[in-house]
Amino acid sequence: MATKYGGYMGKVLKIDLSTQEVAEYPWSDEERRLYIGGKTMAAKILGDHLKSDTQAFSEENLLIVSTGPLTGTGAPSTSRFNVSTLSPQTKIITSSNCGGNFGYYLKKAGFDAVVIGGKSKEPVWIDIHNDKINFHSASDLWGMYTTKTQEALEEKLKENYGRAIKNGKIVIGPAGENLVSYASIFSNERAAGRGGTGAVMGWKNVKAITVSGNHEIKSAHPDKMKELNKKWFKYLRNHPLTGEQLPKLGTAGLMSTMQMRGLLSTKNYTYGHYDDYEMVNGETLAEKYNIVNKGCLTCPIKCARTVEVNGKPVKGPELETLGLLSAGILNCDLEAVCKWNFELDELGMDTISAASTLAYAMEANEKELWDNGLNFGKTENVSQAFRDIAYRKGIGDELANGSRWCAEKYGGKEFAINSKGLELAAYEPRRSVGLGLGYATSNRGGCHLNGGYMVLFEGLSLMVNPQTPKGKADLTVMLQDLMETVSAAGQCLFTTYAFLPSPAVKNPNAWYVKAVCAILPFSGPVVRLLHLMPQIACFHLPVIFNQSKALKYATGMNVTFGSFFKCGKRAFTLERHINSRFGIDRKDDTLPKRLTDVPQVEGDDSTRVPLEKMKDVYYRARGWSKDGVPTPKTLKKLNLDGLDSYKETCRAFKEGGL
Ligand code: SF4
Repeated sequence: MATKYGGYMGKVLKIDLSTQEVAEYPWSDEERRLYIGGKTMAAKILGDHLKSDTQAFSEENLLIVSTGPLTGTGAPSTSRFNVSTLSPQTKIITSSNCGGNFGYYLKKAGFDAVVIGGKSKEPVWIDIHNDKINFHSASDLWGMYTTKTQEALEEKLKENYGRAIKNGKIVIGPAGENLVSYASIFSNERAAGRGGTGAVMGWKNVKAITVSGNHEIKSAHPDKMKELNKKWFKYLRNHPLTGEQLPKLGTAGLMSTMQMRGLLSTKNYTYGHYDDYEMVNGETLAEKYNIVNKGCLTCPIKCARTVEVNGKPVKGPELETLGLLSAGILNCDLEAVCKWNFELDELGMDTISAASTLAYAMEANEKELWDNGLNFGKTENVSQAFRDIAYRKGIGDELANGSRWCAEKYGGKEFAINSKGLELAAYEPRRSVGLGLGYATSNRGGCHLNGGYMVLFEGLSLMVNPQTPKGKADLTVMLQDLMETVSAAGQCLFTTYAFLPSPAVKNPNAWYVKAVCAILPFSGPVVRLLHLMPQIACFHLPVIFNQSKALKYATGMNVTFGSFFKCGKRAFTLERHINSRFGIDRKDDTLPKRLTDVPQVEGDDSTRVPLEKMKDVYYRARGWSKDGVPTPKTLKKLNLDGLDSYKETCRAFKEGGL
């Protein structure tokens, strides 16, 4: 093994599509220690290669598929993988996490990650089996839907190996082939949904990658890992969110709480309530449409739904899709949502960006800015609109560029609901202002998860005053940083739902829960101490947060809660540092004016996001300049002073340019 650490295969594969040359990408143990894996490892590699003028659709852009050291170690919910690249949608780096089994089988094939550059002359599918790489023509697969492609690949693998073999696959659909800026990559029914990773794969002429093999994935301390995993599975199964709500209702189960708290974005974020929500909520989905609960490999939570469309069992909609394709466009037909969700998956595109761009177009039509035939509450032409997007026909050719692009052409920027070009999820931030800050500062653009998911504290589980900006900046930084390392380690972020102790979730009205909620807005100085000196947390948290201990047992690194936290800080600032190269700073950490300037409740000024006020505190907590640029001092503190771009940053700060 080319590494002294456990949990890793010790090899990163580099593929140049232009020449079909393969090699080992140099990745040292020092880099493993600093960047762990997943999206952070990918950010470091992208940072080493991307220049300020690199284009998303270019041979210089890299598509990186990476796993984490927990993948395949038996830790819960760790069969995932990450895809990172320079996004054609946002023009900055994007990362997208995906379930399914590809991550696990990539490691079984012998690799921790694949770094893909160049461009193939003809459509190809790449097969990686026990360290060997084969390029096959994909001319007969090109044009196929995502499910059909995976079925066809199964047959091809059988033929090539003379028997059925266990494997993982990633594929794109017509949307990726036609360079829809928010095309996704699919693995089984799961998607690396956001930021247009599928379009980059399509531009590079790669229809699919298959992985298989029988390498052993070894933890540094297998016995301790086994014991911890046993307790961890039990804890997740007994927790009210990961053991009851998510398995029972999936993410869609959150919709009723969102409606109650004014968090359900309705009519393109005009309102926070939808009168017909009972016709489309998680309970109705479970009662009338759900056939069976499904989940990713090694996951006790099993949050996925299976519904029937045209008599076939298919993946059901997640909360974001459900909310944006129902309340978001004033549609109360749940069957239609299930059908559109399936169609979007088959065409291979991000349901969030597709739905939100559609809602923008409906409003632009209503306001007579763009005569496009799309109307709120009218569902007959929605399927056709999605097909037109995937094949870039008619208005679909413009919708395929996302809401920011459309608003630049037709006007209405104040209701094109995106940040840095990425459309927001279904949570209305005017009733969760900390989430608003998260959406605005998220490195990949308007994302609730990369944004820190403060809504969990501000309404979904805890009730920390959702309208106050007090304490929100420091808490947002804390959650963003923790989630960075969870993701880099290769674990599903839903496991962090269990971070809130069970009694607090079960008894939201208990005095101690109310006391915690009352204190948290004033916790800024204490949390800041942790930001400034993560090393003081030289311990592991008890059972609510097993991740740091698991990383220690899997890798053998000397991990504590504090070093786990610092890794997340490094990761978040690294992505920002790279994005600075593309001109990202304070001016880009924004939300559309509808969310910052127009109160959700008329006359109640607290129901808008006081973004600028929170940004000042946020940048201080991060150690960035007031313009939102990581300072040389912060980069050094986070061990990022070895990067080539560090010197340029020092020079720019010295000259007063930042
Ligand atoms: S919680 Fe859901 S998305 Fe996450 S690993 Fe489990 S089944 Fe997959």
